Amino acid sequence: MIALVKTQKGEGFVELKEMPEPTPGPGQVLIEVKAAGICGTDIHVKHDSFPYWPPVILGHEFSGQIVGLGPDCKYYKVGERVVGEPHNKHCGVCYLCRTGNVQICPEKRSIGWGIDGCMTKYLVMPEQLLHRIPDSMDYDTAAVIEPTANVVHDVIERARVMPGDFVVVIGPGPIGLLAGLAAKAAGARHVVMAGAPPDEGLRLDKARELGFDTVLNVAKENLVDTVMSLTNGIGADLVVDCSGAPAAIAGTVDLLRKKGTICAVGLTGGRTVNFPWEKASFKALDIVFGMSTSYTSWNRAIALVATGLMPVDKVISHRLPLTEWEHAFAELEAQRALKVVLHP
Ligand SMILES: [Zn+2]
Ligand SMILES: [Zn+2]
Repeated sequence: MIALVKTQKGEGFVELKEMPEPTPGPGQVLIEVKAAGICGTDIHVKHDSFPYWPPVILGHEFSGQIVGLGPDCKYYKVGERVVGEPHNKHCGVCYLCRTGNVQICPEKRSIGWGIDGCMTKYLVMPEQLLHRIPDSMDYDTAAVIEPTANVVHDVIERARVMPGDFVVVIGPGPIGLLAGLAAKAAGARHVVMAGAPPDEGLRLDKARELGFDTVLNVAKENLVDTVMSLTNGIGADLVVDCSGAPAAIAGTVDLLRKKGTICAVGLTGGRTVNFPWEKASFKALDIVFGMSTSYTSWNRAIALVATGLMPVDKVISHRLPLTEWEHAFAELEAQRALKVVLHP
């Protein structure tokens, strides 16, 4: 089968290669991949800026159909349509696994960087990491369930956005747009989507199309003034940072009401944040970090997408054959794409 492979350590070394079809072991199923989303992680692996074990097939955001079963499969049948959590090889016995946090088990080796991923025709996954998708959900949309589960975990489960909340999302990339949709689905009364000059065009236009209440470029409009005037000087209940920009993260404190919450989603790429700790302390803020997905966030994400409460398919900007991966990666790196779905 043709697969998109990171062949060795170093910058680049990504190519389409013929790879052997995998065979499911005990408790594993063979999945025919129908759609594979490109994540920032895949681009980081290409550029050698994320841990990975080459040679490895890229991709962890997939949807597909079960076409084979290994021995001892109990819960799934051939023909079922599924998505899956990329928490492969979690140990099952450490403190984190035993407390239901398999997503941050130190032994975890996700598909797409730790073991072979989904940017190919066939994928092997353990039954225990799968979720069924309803017949009404198309495969491209289902491929966006993984990043959707991320924002559902961060914004709804961890930061506990409440109906009626005033929410600011910083960074209108695919994850920021999905985070705004999660806040809306949870009943936020007003979502501000804030971008920077490079977000003008595709990203901020998409934010307007998705119907966020205020969409602005922080270089043109003052974000603090806007938020304060929209909240009668009280401030936002929740700020979700999806930018990972140190200055933006430091600035979240000025946007929040006392006892408000910062939800940290974006990664800074190793940069240190000069954070106004004391100001946050006097405001008695909560800061929550997410990192990956919980089991429950997948169920919730599937339900919110299936019922139309989160129209995540609108964040897909490109649907391309796997053979056009190079073009797809280039469009993403130039910020000319939002979510890109590849068809093996
Ligand atoms: Zn991802
Ligand atoms: Zn573990």
